[in-house]
Amino acid sequence: GCGAAEMAALLRAGAATIERHRVELIDLDRPIGDADHGENMNRGFAAVVSTLDTAVPETPGGVLKIAATTLISKVGGAAGPLYGTAFLRAATTLGDAAELDPPAVLAALRAARDGVVARGKAEVGDATMIDALSPAVDAAEMAEANGIAAMLAAAADAADKGAESTTPLVARKGRASYLGERSVGHLDPGARSTALLLRAFAEAVG
Ligand code: ADP
Ligand code: MG
Ligand code: MG
Repeated sequence: GCGAAEMAALLRAGAATIERHRVELIDLDRPIGDADHGENMNRGFAAVVSTLDTAVPETPGGVLKIAATTLISKVGGAAGPLYGTAFLRAATTLGDAAELDPPAVLAALRAARDGVVARGKAEVGDATMIDALSPAVDAAEMAEANGIAAMLAAAADAADKGAESTTPLVARKGRASYLGERSVGHLDPGARSTALLLRAFAEAVG
């Protein structure tokens, strides 16, 4: 099943991936931003792991809520409030359910995506994390009948493709948008971190 302990394990796996890819995310953010995305995300997810070492909430939603508040206070920049909102909306959607089923996972993913869109106003094609997250939610929906592991695997595959799709795009939100046409040819760092997190979640659950 997917209870609080499993959700904490997913977040730890996400933190480990972000740590391994810290330099890659910094390098993606350098030409079109300010070269801090890997540092921001690693600081935030390391703090999430520290928090989970001391507090173990009783529900998956409680785990996500702690992650959200930690990310909001530690990541900073554009990505902190956006990821924080994603996790907070997911947490709220899960309520106090003790175990997650596929509909709950889908609802959490949708709420995360809708929260990022509400906060950042990006659409698919603007070259942001939404280009990874939105197709991931759609893919999870298509796989709902096959269980949580299959949903997350499908979401991770779609997020990888979605992140790759940002390379030829003109960035229309965030720092990269200041470059206009010069943002073309660069993979969006936030789309990459979203794809990395979903892959880590899929591998940790499966
Ligand atoms: P900052 O740009 O403040 O340095 P980060 O480098 O940590 O913050 O994060 C940049 C990432 O945030 C971008 O690659 C993009 O994916 C995401 N982002 C920025 N603005 C938006 C937005 N309005 N909507 C969705 N995602 C956004
Ligand atoms: Mg940056
Ligand atoms: Mg910054």
